[in-house]
Amino acid sequence: MVNSVYRECYDDSHYRPEFEGFIGNRPLEEVDPEVVTLIRAEKQRQAGGLELIASENFTSRAVMEALGSCFTNKYSEGYPGKRYYGGTEVVDELERLVQQRALSLFGLDPQEWAVNVQPYSGSPANFAVYTALLKPHDRIMGLGLPSGGHLTHGFYTAKGKRISATSIYFESLPYQVHPQTGYVDYDRLEELALLYRPRLIICGASAYARDWDYARMREIADKAGAMLMCDMAHYSGLVAAGELTSPFPFCDVVTTTTHKSLRGPRQGMIFCRRQYEADINEAVFPGCQGGPHNATMAALGVALKEAMTPEFRAYQQQVRANAKALAGALQARGYTIVTGGTDNHLVLWDLRPEGLTGNKVQKLCDQINITLNMNAVPGDTNALSPGGVRLGTPALTSRGFREKDFEQVAEFLHQAVQLCLKIQKDSGKKLADFERALEGRPELATLRDQVRAFALRFPMPGGPR
Ligand code: PLP
Repeated sequence: MVNSVYRECYDDSHYRPEFEGFIGNRPLEEVDPEVVTLIRAEKQRQAGGLELIASENFTSRAVMEALGSCFTNKYSEGYPGKRYYGGTEVVDELERLVQQRALSLFGLDPQEWAVNVQPYSGSPANFAVYTALLKPHDRIMGLGLPSGGHLTHGFYTAKGKRISATSIYFESLPYQVHPQTGYVDYDRLEELALLYRPRLIICGASAYARDWDYARMREIADKAGAMLMCDMAHYSGLVAAGELTSPFPFCDVVTTTTHKSLRGPRQGMIFCRRQYEADINEAVFPGCQGGPHNATMAALGVALKEAMTPEFRAYQQQVRANAKALAGALQARGYTIVTGGTDNHLVLWDLRPEGLTGNKVQKLCDQINITLNMNAVPGDTNALSPGGVRLGTPALTSRGFREKDFEQVAEFLHQAVQLCLKIQKDSGKKLADFERALEGRPELATLRDQVRAFALRFPMPGGPR
């Protein structure tokens, strides 16, 4: 089989068909059937299930193709025009293109804003920002983990064990959501910020279903003399599509992952006002990272191009409509949704009124091809056994799910919770006993078959792999 891209590398006088069979040109099926089997198994798992993890998505075939390209071979430490390696003229062009697309997607003026498209993922992006803007032990205030914040915004246990590197190298002083309303408690944040005088305040979260009041965050940051960073990792796709408030007019720095609602490959980006650019670039490389992952960067370029299309805007509108439909359908069945609804792509479901914990629902759902994750809900005291689950709509919306399909998803979740209650009644509340009681239950097999049959009615993006 002639590989046309391969052939294009040679002019006619040099091309030899036998090059196609050269050792490094054998197809994956031939070289590693074991990995092929696992790829197929994972693809089938993804296609035959309901993916409700709010941070996951199904990226496109075009993104996958760029991800598997020859850019993976290239080292390019440094930045366009200033590299520590030779042979970087094409990578330079790629990185500039990706930067341009990133700024343009979010409507940013290149005179005012810069973007670094090299972070390996969201966590390294955040750490690079702290490295650039802070000194060790400077104070950071981010939304606490049990309130829906991310580990990289700082986390230590009730006994003071510093878990996240952010809390090891800096003093992290979390703010919280209001234990009754579930909304960010801006008044309390202001009080605390004026008391602690942090260098950096972070907005954005991993499990918060509402939009942010960035104007208020800016006001608080200014009063406290702090810089303001937004980590929009979860919802950057919605911001790009104009479905959520843009943090850019209010923030000094904005970070994001690229593989969640933005639907690209697994990477990170840091946007910053030009005055911080040199420090942030230095912190990414050589501060925290080595050579950028150029194939991922190429794939990010593709995802950014896709994100500029009207289809992507329609997709993000549907992501939100689906999240509202899911929340509404659960509420119609008598369940409790934190904050009473959602503005974005996720729904935080409080299971405490049912007498259930999130880990049991997660375990049972795993058995019936529904993937979701347990999550703390406001007022939770036990971090190991949180009282809720987080549900997200980006992945299934990428398979073409609409509101009526999420009605059916809610019905499956309702049946799962009712089964959980029945099994817990037999097993008692201990998780280990509950897990044992899940084994060999015919009701689970029946529900799994129904979920699978339903899921397989929808297409999967991404091509054969
Ligand atoms: N920031 C937020 C808000 C996140 O939710 C996540 C991941 O879930 C990250 C950062 C870290 O991203 P990564 O897992 O790519 O390091």
